Amino acid sequence: MLPKDLINKYRDWKENIFSKEKEYFEKLAKEGQSPQYIIISCVDSRVDPNAIFKSKAGELLVHRNIANIVPPYSHLREHSGTIAAIEFGVTVLNIKNIIIVGHSGCGGIKNGYHMCKDDIFDNSSPISNWLSLIMPSYHKIKDTNDRENISQLEKINIVTSLENLRDYPFIKSGLNSDAVKLYGVWNDIGTGSLESYNTQKKEFERI
Ligand SMILES: [Zn+2]
Repeated sequence: MLPKDLINKYRDWKENIFSKEKEYFEKLAKEGQSPQYIIISCVDSRVDPNAIFKSKAGELLVHRNIANIVPPYSHLREHSGTIAAIEFGVTVLNIKNIIIVGHSGCGGIKNGYHMCKDDIFDNSSPISNWLSLIMPSYHKIKDTNDRENISQLEKINIVTSLENLRDYPFIKSGLNSDAVKLYGVWNDIGTGSLESYNTQKKEFERI
């Protein structure tokens, strides 16, 4: 059986939330999903895209991985999970908007930073293997001190991921015709603030 706290929370949800929106869920079950946004977020339990964007079931296609990384399309064979989720969203569900959600205090970014800095990647470790994708972003850091560098890397990683997305064949065509739009945001967990990447100014701006 599931842990008791989860059973209690589920029953509470079923009784107090689901029951009030029963028709909405029936409609979703009958008609299928048609979300307007793909969200690529970190697995960090403190970051909750559905909460930040106050969304209901069926509104966001959320894919989570460690450090919200979008791999280059050339890594199709090694890291297909994220690429497949994006391809599904764009080509099957016809979603036009992709948003990468990074965050403050990201453990994945911090670990990836130290792996890059100390060159301690271990290809027998799935985490290490995954975080090696951070390397191109690491090389774009304006070197100051570790704390500041890690903070920079959280945002540079979002920008690199946006660049990688632009190279995906099924996105490239959509970008050319303005049918697909890409966004990058960074969430400060402690203050709840959100910064959005301005591609013209090449900087993050508070919303
Ligand atoms: Zn994270």
